[in-house]
Amino acid sequence: MSTFQAPKGTYDLIPPSSATYLAVREAIAAPLRNSGYGYIETPGFENVELFARGVGESTDIVTKEMYAFETKGGDKLALRPEGTASTLRAALEANLHKGGNLPVKLWYSGSYYRYERPQKGRYRHFSQVGAEAIGVEDPALDAELIILANHSYRSLGLSDFRILLNSLGDKECRPVYRAALQDFLRGLELDEETRRRIEINPLRVLDDKRESVQEQLIGAPMLRDYLCEACKTYHEQVRELLTAAGVAFEDDPKLVRGLDYYTRTTFEFVHDGLGSQSAVGGGGRYDGLSEMIGGPALPSVGWALGVDRTVLALEAEGITLDLPAATSVYAVPLGEEARRVLFGKVTELRLAGVATDFAYGGKGLKNAMKSANRSGARLALVAGERDLAEGLVQLKDLQSGEQTAVALDAVVDEVRRALA
Ligand code: ATP
Ligand code: MG
Repeated sequence: MSTFQAPKGTYDLIPPSSATYLAVREAIAAPLRNSGYGYIETPGFENVELFARGVGESTDIVTKEMYAFETKGGDKLALRPEGTASTLRAALEANLHKGGNLPVKLWYSGSYYRYERPQKGRYRHFSQVGAEAIGVEDPALDAELIILANHSYRSLGLSDFRILLNSLGDKECRPVYRAALQDFLRGLELDEETRRRIEINPLRVLDDKRESVQEQLIGAPMLRDYLCEACKTYHEQVRELLTAAGVAFEDDPKLVRGLDYYTRTTFEFVHDGLGSQSAVGGGGRYDGLSEMIGGPALPSVGWALGVDRTVLALEAEGITLDLPAATSVYAVPLGEEARRVLFGKVTELRLAGVATDFAYGGKGLKNAMKSANRSGARLALVAGERDLAEGLVQLKDLQSGEQTAVALDAVVDEVRRALA
């Protein structure tokens, strides 16, 4: 123990479990890389105004959860609470949308920060892998993203999750619905804060988790009944494409994202083994966001999947990923001369692409062999003065215990053969 601990609401990723975390990130990213998405990395902080506008002044993220601060130079910044606004900002800044090659498809992976009440699955520092497809309105693009997220989760072996799907309408039909919903909500028994929300962000009230609110919402007007023909057709096409791809989903007419620039397709991946922090990922269309941050009209769609909660989902389903051992060969020198020679072999093996480690610190044979076993290596390379005098090292299979003498200059080849 040192004097210090990780800050409240954070945790450290440490071996060996950190390997699972990395593998989850990789599993989410792999289908994106394979589908035309290019990697983007943006700063961990941005101008606070980007999030105020790009995430929304009335959202919990901006009003309660953002780490905002002023620098010594007087800049007003915030640690990024999510990735979409930054990604779009960067794409616009680099004029990616002007290459005549829309959609611009981007993926990212990184740390996000929200000042939340910490609990299992809800942290102040967490990780997301996200994807955004910018500049095109095409139901196949919405479907693609949902299919890719589904693919990621399946490739990890997850099955106890559901995809919730809804359409939020567009700037034609949503305002009509919004007004009807406000009329309905104004007639309910609600606290001060929720009343304010009715005026700024009424759709978000539908998402209120409290029982006392939910029971009053029975009979509330549903967006589904207000969708214009264009939105209905669009949504039907997304649904058909998902069905054709064999991706099961549930229509959830209450699934909302409150802000006006979220349009049409919206979806969430929920895992049934996670208790109240059940959303493992979410996303949707945000046709109005670009204009909101000063760009041209660029209809776009994206998602972000939570890496922390995906790892918890694996635990909930009792899935252990089949990860390759970090080390294949462990070298154990006995004596100074052996140390010098084997260290050279270790470097040679590593250059040849074999994951190799070395017994540092002048350990005795017994301790060194313990470390070799603990490393997960399949093979140990053991050499003492007598072997070396004959130009040999001992190659030991750590599972069978079988040991063979190998000529020093044949080590790389012999190791490769033994590992094949
Ligand atoms: P919730 O309703 O649980 O607060 P959210 O709607 O705020 O989720 P999004 O902004 O859609 O979440 O973020 C996408 C994903 O990122 C979530 O589905 C979740 O997996 C993850 N995530 C969001 N906030 C946190 C957090 N504080 N800790 C860990 N993971 C998080
Ligand atoms: Mg949240």
